[in-house]
Order: sequence, then structure tokens, then C-alpha cells
Amino acid sequence: MSVVSKKIKLATKGDTDIIDVTSQVASAVSKSGVKNGIATVFVSGSTGGLTTVEYEPGLAQDLKTYFEKIAPKTGRYEHNERWHDGNGYAHVRASFLGPSLSVPFNNAELQLGTWQQIIFIDFDNRPRSRELLVQILGD
Ligand code: ZN
Repeated sequence: MSVVSKKIKLATKGDTDIIDVTSQVASAVSKSGVKNGIATVFVSGSTGGLTTVEYEPGLAQDLKTYFEKIAPKTGRYEHNERWHDGNGYAHVRASFLGPSLSVPFNNAELQLGTWQQIIFIDFDNRPRSRELLVQILGD
């Protein structure tokens, strides 16, 4: 079994910025030399998350709308009371979404559906430089 690590660098706008990273993950897998296995994408940071979606503007707006209902930006957060960084909502949203996603691949091809893209969401309340880790395990 091989383990290959790749990084994806992103400059985000923050504020529930939704970024399609499918092509970067696919390219990390194809360059890894690993044919069959699992690619785990992980963000180190507690205000970002990963999932899949049909990546189109309507759904991108829906995600923003419903994350706002789950953890409203102007809600009251103990985190903000303690740290005064104003991003309590971002931490709560990120915790619900989770910091990683695993996608199987065969013949170096991600086994995603046609209408299924990998997205990174930056919930923080300011632009961020992010580094996603793609950890590729397989043969
Ligand atoms: Zn914070």
C-alpha cells in the first residue's frame, strides 16, 4: 500500500465562500501514481468544511441560506463573548459540516457522480489562505 500526500492552496473570500475543488483533487489523485484507493481531503482549521454537492449557483445560494438558518451570523455566541473575533457562527457551521471527506477512486478516477462535485466551504468572517491536505491511500 502507498500513502501519498498532496496540498491544495486556496485564497478564499470567507463568509461562507463555496469553492469547487473537484479538479484539484482529481489531479492530485492522477499525479499520485496510486491506481485504486481512497482520497481523503482534510482542512486543518475549525472554520472550514468539506462535502459534495451539485455545484451550480442555485444550490450554492441554498447552502448559504440554510447555513444562515442553522447558525445565524448575528446570533449570540459564547465564543464571541470570550474571544471577540465574531466568528462563533463560522465555528458552529464548520462543526456541523465536518473537516474532511473521503472519496474512493478506481483506475485513478474519483468515483463521483456526474452531478456531484467536491466543495470546500470557508465559513470564517474574513478572507483566508487555506491549505487542504489530500491524503491518498491505496495500491
Ligand atoms: Zn473564533
